[in-house]
Amino acid sequence: MIRVEHLSKRWGDLVVLKDISAEIRKGEVISIIGPSGTGKSTFLRCLNLLDEPSGGSIHIDDTNVLDPKTDVPRVRQKMNMVFQSFNLFAHLNVLDNLTLAPMKLKGLDRASAQAKAHDMLKLVGLAGKADAFPDELSGGQKQRVAIARCLAMEPEVILFDEPTSALDPTMVSEVLSVIRRLAKEGMTMVIVTHEMDFARDVSNRVFYMDEGLIYEEGTPEQIFSHPSKPRTRAFINRIRSFTHRIDSAEFDFYGMNAEIEGFCEKHMLARGTRHNVLLLVEELLHLHVPTLFKGALNIDIEYSEKNGDVELSFASPAGVGNVLEAGNHVDELPLLLIRNFGQNITYAVADGLGRLSMTVRPG
Ligand code: ADP
Ligand code: MG
Repeated sequence: MIRVEHLSKRWGDLVVLKDISAEIRKGEVISIIGPSGTGKSTFLRCLNLLDEPSGGSIHIDDTNVLDPKTDVPRVRQKMNMVFQSFNLFAHLNVLDNLTLAPMKLKGLDRASAQAKAHDMLKLVGLAGKADAFPDELSGGQKQRVAIARCLAMEPEVILFDEPTSALDPTMVSEVLSVIRRLAKEGMTMVIVTHEMDFARDVSNRVFYMDEGLIYEEGTPEQIFSHPSKPRTRAFINRIRSFTHRIDSAEFDFYGMNAEIEGFCEKHMLARGTRHNVLLLVEELLHLHVPTLFKGALNIDIEYSEKNGDVELSFASPAGVGNVLEAGNHVDELPLLLIRNFGQNITYAVADGLGRLSMTVRPG
């Protein structure tokens, strides 16, 4: 139904969309997730021509949308958009908000436009609000009116740009319920959202956008439970990370410890966990120091806000080998402490680096 090929968008020197290719089939519900500023809104705005793409092509049912001869209002009608900020006309009542575009753009007479408007209001649960003005409505009601207004144009696809992010938390679910209902009825939709649970159960496919690309796409199960690429994983698990590089044996141990404490404090790690992190770092360093002349050592700490896990890893040149392996050390105590405070300990070599990783025992 929609085919996007090598779409790009620049604002001056800023490349927002690098190279986006995607296909959206009839009846599909696609959720787009990703950090802010990665071009999710720009992508939607390019799809319905509110922003002019810098390159690539967009086809809807085999019509090239970027052809200068294309009838832009007709494209917008086929692919209608619902915005974060509702965009209702404040000086018009709900009914007039809904009939304006169908009368102007589709040439409907007033009576048919009003009949359609009443049907759509019923569908979004606001049959009684036809005469109200936008400022008499709650945020959730306004957004439902905006959805009804969009539906009144009988679009083939609806693009939602963060439809619930301007809402009071108590009003999110009434809007999501309406979108769920549209999904059940087979409406084709592309939804930019931060509501992960919603995205997970309403969509057929999820696009994770990052770095100006659809960085990873898959079923909700793939993206939310088994993301395969590092940025997707970091986003889904809300991973906060800390990195410290040591490149000489005369490094500032106390300075580094203070930085790690700062990181733990910032993310409100439990005192016991913080203690375990510092202890593991100290013991692991102890084992690594004799090998420091072989090259730099990187200490990475990753904290997942989603599941509370703290992962600690030490990366050093592969030639160093696994410092936990017998024969590399004389003192058994660090080894015992590490095996006690670190769980799921693994050692793997990739790209010339040996990485010793473990989950810090929660304290
Ligand atoms: P998202 O919706 O993922 O948060 P946006 O598509 O809104 O991201 O924005 C992506 C980038 O494009 C941001 O860096 C933003 O500042 C920039 N941008 C968006 N609109 C414009 C514009 N009209 N002029 C210049 N830069 C813009
Ligand atoms: Mg946006």
